Amino acid sequence: MLRHGSSRNKRSRRRQSLLKAVLCLLHLLLAACGSGQAPAGSGAAGAVAPGLYAVDALAPSLQAPGIEMHLRYAERAPTGLVVHLAFYNNGPNDLAVVRGADPAAARLRGDDAEPPSAYSASLEGGIAPAGAWLAGGATNGTLTFARARGAAFTFEFPGFEAVPFRLDMPLRQAPEPAPAPVGTYTYGNGPAGGRSGQVAIERATVDERAVEIVVALPDAAEEFVDAAADVQGAVLLDSRWNQYPVAQAAAPAGDSTSPTPVSATAGTRRVALRFEGRPVGDVLLLRVPPFPLVRVPLRPGQEAAPASAVDLPPSRERRPAPVPAGDRTDSVTGEQQAIEQLVAELGRRIAARDRQGYLNAFAPEMRDEQARVFDRILALPLSDVGFTLEAGVVPDEDGQNRGAQVTLRYRAGDAAAVHTYSHDLALDLRRDADVWQITAVRGDLPFWLLGPTEARRTGAFTIFFRPLAESQLRAVEEEVAAALQQVGERLSGRVPASNVMFVTETADEFARLTGRDPARFAGVALSRYRIAPEGVTIEGSAFYINGAAFDDSRKESRQQTIAHELVHLALAEQTMPYTPVWAVEGMAIEVAEELPAETMRAAVQAGKLQGFDLAEFTARRGWGAPDQSGAETALDYAFAAYLTRYLVDRYGFDRFVAFYDSFATVPWARLEKDLPVTESEAVAESAFGTLARDLTAAQLQTAYGLDLATLERDFLAWVETEAT
Ligand SMILES: [Zn+2]
Repeated sequence: MLRHGSSRNKRSRRRQSLLKAVLCLLHLLLAACGSGQAPAGSGAAGAVAPGLYAVDALAPSLQAPGIEMHLRYAERAPTGLVVHLAFYNNGPNDLAVVRGADPAAARLRGDDAEPPSAYSASLEGGIAPAGAWLAGGATNGTLTFARARGAAFTFEFPGFEAVPFRLDMPLRQAPEPAPAPVGTYTYGNGPAGGRSGQVAIERATVDERAVEIVVALPDAAEEFVDAAADVQGAVLLDSRWNQYPVAQAAAPAGDSTSPTPVSATAGTRRVALRFEGRPVGDVLLLRVPPFPLVRVPLRPGQEAAPASAVDLPPSRERRPAPVPAGDRTDSVTGEQQAIEQLVAELGRRIAARDRQGYLNAFAPEMRDEQARVFDRILALPLSDVGFTLEAGVVPDEDGQNRGAQVTLRYRAGDAAAVHTYSHDLALDLRRDADVWQITAVRGDLPFWLLGPTEARRTGAFTIFFRPLAESQLRAVEEEVAAALQQVGERLSGRVPASNVMFVTETADEFARLTGRDPARFAGVALSRYRIAPEGVTIEGSAFYINGAAFDDSRKESRQQTIAHELVHLALAEQTMPYTPVWAVEGMAIEVAEELPAETMRAAVQAGKLQGFDLAEFTARRGWGAPDQSGAETALDYAFAAYLTRYLVDRYGFDRFVAFYDSFATVPWARLEKDLPVTESEAVAESAFGTLARDLTAAQLQTAYGLDLATLERDFLAWVETEAT
């Protein structure tokens, strides 16, 4: 019974995420930091002989439980040191949206620190593969560092533990599997063919361009009512765990008389799944949701079989053996219930201010720390702190449970206006006699779980800060007051009555909480958007001030940062994921009065106006990438600032506000067909870019009677004289 329940939950969650949940990040560039870090010449040869070197180090994600980075090997090439790396989803669950860790923010520290001079196309969308990130799936890629002097390095990738390595283990050849061998492989009576609740593999055909696998699926009605095979969600993994989504699902050749794509025989249905591309290696893994992974060897005479842990990517942690849905025992179900209750109990104990009851959920070695956390929660303006177990748990062989995925939800702020936040945590649990206890809390921890925290209400802000930063706080409060006044004057009635600000103490902490490069971002305003037919909802609006980026000499710039981010928060409800980024950033710069005159003057002198294409600029989402120096990003912000300035100068501020607001009232019927149906942030971003371009053309016409080409022409003529 519970089995049905949890399975349905999983499906409805999946459906929810298909409602295009998207995390929209609005951010401010700390332009001053960009230019100083441009690579100073490249190609300086290092002292180490050319060649390949093994590294083979794994580092866990600091933010997303179960994600691991694998530094595989390094290669001395004419272009520099090429680092071959992979990112694995070694958690128990598929992931919908992975916040984009930016490869351009990676650093190689050797004799000096260096940003990448290039990275592979596979990393352009971040570290997650396109589509949902399957448990067991990977992204493989390279980062090139043009200088990379010396033989000892530390590799830093945002959101992961740093990896020190040395070039002292030469490799004779690159550890890369050969392309999948062309041929047809048939499978008969292997274990995957006979078991109930499993996908049976009949045949695999590999050619230069695609793989076709004929499978027999268990009858949907046989076991679970909601376990119908999702053939459109089928994914193939190759020997490097690269993901290939199904391109076509059709009746197998020879079944062409069947009226439906899927042919039915007694108890099973057969379908031919086609995957485009050339996988690597001679073992493939096939997943047809909701069934477990099946190992498909491309070796004559070998049978397909349920995948085991050895088929999955390397991991620092021992992973639970994948248990087929049909084989789960009632004791597993009982343990799942016990953990579910334990996790849910935490929130109830906090609400009841029951310190001992809360601490009892933790192993003895955790209790001192958790006592401090409990006291902190009660002392801070936090409410409705609750924990929910999100996924089925499968205990390890030794009875432990590592990385149970738990959502932490809470509200912050005063009673008048609260903000809701959610965080994905991973809990490790241990069973002592019959009682489960929590032994570790990891994952995307909120500010107040990362260290001592105090909070103060200042005007319309609740500011969370570290006690050590208290001396800075008076200045921050003054700047907040000035920013509130500045933004309130231009956007009267729009400034929220309640805002939440987190002032981080260290650069690492800022990177961990925001996923942004602390060297380039002074502050980040974050909101989580969910788009659905009933409208767009927003939660978790907050801004993070990078406390380490400011000293006394930068006071004015911090105030501008606060004003800039406050504009984003003030307009969060009108700012859609398909509002052009130039309007979003242009508005913030306009109101915060940060017009980057020097950048634009230099751009005009360098002839950058000739290459400006407003339609392309309007569709652009990820500003700056792959841009190590920050120069491209600074130019994007400058164009946004001047384009907005032009519209405000020529037509007035109110008209620009109306244009900005108009994106929030685009009817669902107009959006529906163009909204991305994807769980990949990269794919969603690209679709939002196209939508932004098309909608901007329409909204410009309505608000200004202008088309994109006319605006581009008028703007360029204006900026040429304005900026010189
Ligand atoms: Zn911004």
